[in-house]
Amino acid sequence: MYQPDIETMPLDQLRELQRTRLRQTLERVYQRVPFYRKVMDQRGLKPQDIQSVEDLPKLPFTRKEDLRDHYPYGLFAEPADRIARIHASSGTTGKPTVVGYTRRDLDIFDEVVARSLVCAGARPGMKLHNAYGYGLFTGGLGMHGGASRLGMAVIPVSGGMTERQLTILEDFRPEVICCTPSYAQTLSEALQSRGIDPADLPVQYAILGAEPWTDAIRQQVEAGLHVQATNIYGLSEIIGPGVSQEAVDERGTGSYIWEDHFYPEVVDRDSGEPLPHGEEGVLVFTTLTKEAMPLLRYWTNDICRIQYDPNGSRTHIKMSPILGRADDMLIIRGVNLFHTQVEEVIEQMDYLTPNYQLIVTRRGSLDQVEVRVEVAAGANPESTELRDRLQQKIKDTIGLSMDIMLEQPGQIPRSQGGKLARVVDQRS
Ligand code: ADP
Repeated sequence: MYQPDIETMPLDQLRELQRTRLRQTLERVYQRVPFYRKVMDQRGLKPQDIQSVEDLPKLPFTRKEDLRDHYPYGLFAEPADRIARIHASSGTTGKPTVVGYTRRDLDIFDEVVARSLVCAGARPGMKLHNAYGYGLFTGGLGMHGGASRLGMAVIPVSGGMTERQLTILEDFRPEVICCTPSYAQTLSEALQSRGIDPADLPVQYAILGAEPWTDAIRQQVEAGLHVQATNIYGLSEIIGPGVSQEAVDERGTGSYIWEDHFYPEVVDRDSGEPLPHGEEGVLVFTTLTKEAMPLLRYWTNDICRIQYDPNGSRTHIKMSPILGRADDMLIIRGVNLFHTQVEEVIEQMDYLTPNYQLIVTRRGSLDQVEVRVEVAAGANPESTELRDRLQQKIKDTIGLSMDIMLEQPGQIPRSQGGKLARVVDQRS
């Protein structure tokens, strides 16, 4: 563990720490961010009315639109000369939002990423092949800073140029790699087609995030790269990667949210009401230590569940994998659909790979989804039996009839280094 005293802190102490930090944050934003002062004044709230994290539901949510309305620096709580770095979201869902960091914020960013790296299996002295994009996106520089802090050697490859990535994996011999899960798929396939046996490479751990993924991809990547693959989650508005991390020995049980810095809630996506632990809803974060851009109850739009794990190695709460973004949810003939649900069905089927795409069209007044999915090498894409079985399984599991198009390996677009769009919406 990187910080055992914090990572295993008893819950009552953690609550006390959160309470102290929350009260400091509230004082700061009330004094320094006109937007928050107004929001609180309108509700007749003073910072002292929020005594602990349990009082947070008294406050409204902060949403991406609020960041856009105050573009670029309107929500900053620090003057320009105290800002040490500026990043932006990837802009996956529209105009990017701008975020700032003080030196201390960057220090905490390094700390939570270092903590996450150790949780994923990395150790000082190892080399990190960092295939997250460098630039405004927080992935590349975020992982870089944390790995340096931990005492790793960073290989700042950035995303893309797959051939070069393979050469680096072979020649520079990193023990750890980080990238998006879809790019890890690309890399594992490229290794195979080059005839490289992944068992000959020293890479042992893959840290994958920035987009939703399921066990189907984990299995493909673990076999294809000969690694143990864990999930890292984060978003620029809260800090970047390292908001939460799955532990390598607890794979499949959720990712620890570093709640000494980021306090999570899960709320109903329609009413906004807080949900009990274990129920699925929108993840909301309050930053507890951010200086440059503290956010209260930030509506991430990401759908998941949170729950404590009494058998976990750490005390912090765990989040389930993200099902998808609330605004990426398809509503098909009255049924809610995320692409990860189809991915989960594919995982349960032999002869199929998690290389797939959903094509959404409108026939007359009815929306229709076609699942294009590649068969495994050697399997027959003409097999009506396989096609019918997938169709039936999707119908039984998700409750929707979808058209199925089985494809030869290599027909579905691959990630070229970043996040991959799994859904093609042709309705408009
Ligand atoms: P953008 O929202 O423009 O993509 P970011 O680059 O900050 O901006 O990405 C943050 C978003 O990426 C998260 O809100 C979430 O939707 C997604 N994301 C990040 N990590 C994961 C992960 N491990 N699993 C699923 N989704 C993730």
